[in-house]
Amino acid sequence: MKLIFEMGAPGRGCDLLAECPTPYTPTNVALREKPLHLPEVSETELSRHYTELAKQAHGVNDGFYPLGSCTMKYNPKINEEAAALPGFTQIHPLQDTPDIQGCLEVISETEQALCAITGMDACTLQPAAGAHGEFTGLLLIKAYHASRGDDARRKIIVPDSAHGTNPASAAMAGFDVVNIVSDAHGCVDLDALKAAVGDDTAGLMLTNPNTVGLFDPNIAEITRIVREAGGLCYYDGANLNAIMGITRPGDMGFDVMHLNLHKTFSTPHGGGGPGSGPVACKAFLADFLPGVRAIPAGDGLAMSRAPHSIGDVRSFYGNFLVVVRALCYILTLGREGIPEAAVGAVLNANYMMHQLKPYYQMAYDHTCMHEFVLTLEQEKRTYNVSALDIAKALLDHGIHPPTMYFPLIVHEALMIEPTETESRETLDEAIQIFIDVRKQSEKAPEDMHQYPLATPVRRLDEVTAARKPVVRYTWE
Ligand SMILES: *Cc1c(COP(=O)(O)O)cnc(C)c1O
Repeated sequence: MKLIFEMGAPGRGCDLLAECPTPYTPTNVALREKPLHLPEVSETELSRHYTELAKQAHGVNDGFYPLGSCTMKYNPKINEEAAALPGFTQIHPLQDTPDIQGCLEVISETEQALCAITGMDACTLQPAAGAHGEFTGLLLIKAYHASRGDDARRKIIVPDSAHGTNPASAAMAGFDVVNIVSDAHGCVDLDALKAAVGDDTAGLMLTNPNTVGLFDPNIAEITRIVREAGGLCYYDGANLNAIMGITRPGDMGFDVMHLNLHKTFSTPHGGGGPGSGPVACKAFLADFLPGVRAIPAGDGLAMSRAPHSIGDVRSFYGNFLVVVRALCYILTLGREGIPEAAVGAVLNANYMMHQLKPYYQMAYDHTCMHEFVLTLEQEKRTYNVSALDIAKALLDHGIHPPTMYFPLIVHEALMIEPTETESRETLDEAIQIFIDVRKQSEKAPEDMHQYPLATPVRRLDEVTAARKPVVRYTWE
C-alpha cells in the first residue's frame, strides 16, 4: 500500500474554499525557505486511502481484542456524540468564567463522581494519561513530606507485580525506587514489605488488581504497614474496571491514586491518545493539587487554584473532551450500572480462564479479577512453541493478540482481558480458537512459526522496528 505522500499529482488537491482576498504579508515570522511538501490528492483518493488503512487495522469494532492491562472495551457511541457537541468543542479555555459555566459544571460533576467512586476527597482532571497521573500523584507525596520539613523520605516502594510505569514515574519524580518481590501467589510479600519500610519511606505504589490480574488479599495490612512507617500509599487505579462500584481505594487506606478514563470510563484508545489520568486524593493532599478547580461561587462556579499547588502538569483543564465522555458514561450507567460493568468484566475473565484451564497453564491458579495470565513456558520447552507463536496464530482467526511477555515476572506470558462488553457467544468462539491453536501447536509445532498468513503484513522485524524506528518520511 502506498503512503499518502506517494499518491496524487501536483495541483490536484481538493480545496473547497476560494483563496483569501485580503493580501497577507507576514512580518517578523520564521518563514519556510521551501513550500511544505504536502500530498496533493483528490477527495476520492483521500477517502479511499484512509478507508483502506482502517481496513488493515484491527480495532474493537472488528473483533475480539483481549489486550490485557489495556481494557480495550466497546465504548458507547452516545458518549462520542456528547463530546462532539459544539458547546464543548467550540469553546476557548481563556473565555470568561461566566461564559463557560457548562464546562465548569462538567468538570465539577466529574470530580465529584470520581471522588465518590474512589472514596477520595478531591480530584484533578489535568493529567493526560495514566503515567502522567502517577507522576502527578508522586509530586503530591513529595510536596506533602516537604511541607512537614521531612526531607529524609526519598524512597518509593514498588512491588514487582506493579505496572511498568510505576517505577519509571517514581524515578521521574526524583525518588529512589525500592523493588520488592511477590510471594508465591503473585501478591505483595508482607515480610519483604516490612523489611523495606523505614524513616526513608516516602510511600508505596500499588497496582491493584496487580499485573497478574489478582486482587491483593492483604491490601489493608499493606497500607497499615506503610502508614505506620510514615509513608503514604499510592493506588494505581488504571484498571478500575474490576472494582468500580464494588470497593474503593479510599476505604483501603490509600491516600492518592489515578484512574485511566481512557480505559475504564469510555474513551477509545490505542494509537496514542488522547487520554486522561485524573488524580484523586484525600483532603490533606488537596492543597497541593495542580491546575485550577471548579468551586461554587454565588449561584455558579468559579475557578480556583490550590494554595500550595505543585503547579500545572498540563495546560488548562487537561483533555476536556475525554472528561465529557467519562461523565456521560458515569451518568448513563449510574450507581447500579457501574458495579454491574465491573461484575461483568470479572465474570467474563473467570469464565474464559476456567474454560482454558484444561488446555493452558495458568500463571496463578486463583480467581482472577478483570484479566488473567497464562504461561507458555512448558510449550516452549516441549514443542518450541512460544507465546509469540500463539499470539501470531490468533491473528489469522480475527483475534487481536493478548498482551505478550508482560508481566515480566511470568515467563512466556499471555495476558488476557476479555472485558465486560463481550457476549457469551463471542467468548465461546474465542475460547474455541485458543483451544484449536493450542492443539495445533502440539500436532504441528513447526507450522506455528509461520503465522500469521492472512494479515496485510506477516511477521515483522520487531527488534529493528523497536531499536531503529523510521518515523520520518524522507523525500527522494
Ligand atoms: C495502562 C496502565 C498504566 C499507564 O497508563 P497510560 O495512560 O498508558 O500512561 C499504568 N498502570 C496500569 C496498571 C495500567 O494498566
